[in-house]
Amino acid sequence: MLDITLLKSKLRRITFLRSLKGRIFLILLIVGLIPCFIMRYAILRNYERRAVTVRTSDISTQVRILANHLITYHYLQDTSSEVINAELDQLSNLYDGRVLIINADLRIVKDTYGISEGKTIISEEVIRCLRGESANRYDRENGYIEMTIPITETVEADLPVGSGESFDLVRGVMLVSASNDSIIATMDSLNRQALVVESIVGVLIFVVTLLVSKVLFAPFKKMIQALDQVQEGYTNDPISVTDCLETEHIGDAFNRVLGRMKMLDNSRQEFVSNVSHELRTPITSMKVLADSLITQKDVPLEVYQEFMRDIAAEIEREDKIINDLLSLVKMDRTSADLNISEVDINALVELIMRRLRPIAMRRDVQLVYESIRPVTAEVDEVKLTLALSNLVENAIKYNKEHGFVKVTLDAGHQFFTVQVADSGVGIPEDALEHIYERFYRVDKSRSREIGGTGLGLSITRSAILMHRGSIKVTSIEGEGTDFMVKIPLKYILV
Ligand code: ADP
Repeated sequence: MLDITLLKSKLRRITFLRSLKGRIFLILLIVGLIPCFIMRYAILRNYERRAVTVRTSDISTQVRILANHLITYHYLQDTSSEVINAELDQLSNLYDGRVLIINADLRIVKDTYGISEGKTIISEEVIRCLRGESANRYDRENGYIEMTIPITETVEADLPVGSGESFDLVRGVMLVSASNDSIIATMDSLNRQALVVESIVGVLIFVVTLLVSKVLFAPFKKMIQALDQVQEGYTNDPISVTDCLETEHIGDAFNRVLGRMKMLDNSRQEFVSNVSHELRTPITSMKVLADSLITQKDVPLEVYQEFMRDIAAEIEREDKIINDLLSLVKMDRTSADLNISEVDINALVELIMRRLRPIAMRRDVQLVYESIRPVTAEVDEVKLTLALSNLVENAIKYNKEHGFVKVTLDAGHQFFTVQVADSGVGIPEDALEHIYERFYRVDKSRSREIGGTGLGLSITRSAILMHRGSIKVTSIEGEGTDFMVKIPLKYILV
């Protein structure tokens, strides 16, 4: 059996067929040459059929005339008639063939080749011909026409004289085979001419392919040059090859990709500079603290202890930033990294509340939890806990004295929702669109003061998106903020 995949891979390796130029050439060749082949075949067959018909009827007429002469000259009884012999020779020469005269006893009385005279011939055609059926056959392979014609004599019926009744009596058979060489020669010559035409068509197609592909591929060449220039860094301008619609579309698509890449590159650069800045700040503080301890002499123990406490706090901050960065990296991976299991969401939220209650108490913020209904969902427990913890922790951190944080859990048919509402400082309207950006903080000094890294919401959003969920925020400055998280109950595999 033919291995299709093997054949395909072999074809793929033929670079000629992989190029559009090659394919156009092949298509034009097929479209151009197949009609030529069909026409050549049809013309030759038609010519052959007509030529054989004409020749057969020609020979038939001649042979029938000669058959009458044979009867007139009683040739079947006596083959010495010079007139008839001359006519027979003339016939066989004319058609470059052979004539056999066979009598009613199936004996060959005359062979123009002179080799079979006196022999008996038993063939179906001859026997049928003796019954009055003439036949002709065209042997295409050997290139001759064979014909059997009865030699008939008109005899008066054995009835009273003058009744006028007569009938034809078959006295013998003329078997003629005529060469078809002249027809074959003409066909050969026609065939040669057709081949010349086909070759000219092939060359024309080749030239047309070259010209067409040159014209068609010019815009693509331009496109490749433009892409090379961008790749080599000569230019950063958008690509525009408007010579044809296709290149225009490719250019647009490439420009979109380029724009996205530039944006990603910018955000990567910004992220790297932000990370280094954030990481350097606690180190700078620690260095200042340590230097002042080293340069001062006889530092009192209390100052020493205070400075060391500050250094420990900076180390803690550095540790938090690094942990947040690691969480962010984890969230940046694909959804395949999610560890999905059936989780009791009520228990999960309760645990988060329990963990954060001490911080809330320290800040005199009331923590309220309302669960509308029991909810179990397919989620990554660790990542969702981190996401929701960040929201509740922010609600506590950015709250006012005697404020409150209310967490509400509810579910519909397909989703569950977690609402985190607080009575805190709120977020200014123009800052709302930036809060999910890495290292973005509305009030830098305040956030730093309360131990914020600016990465929390970015981690939260990534975790929720990984669960194919959504997060929405509404806030009124000075009154409070409301985060609404919506996550599918069943994890959706894409
Ligand atoms: P941070 O570590 O600074 O808290 P986040 O990414 O968690 O960073 O939050 C980004 C910024 O959004 C915060 O600095 C804060 O200004 C603002 N923010 C987040 N949550 C709240 C909230 N509940 N109330 C008021 N402001 C908030």
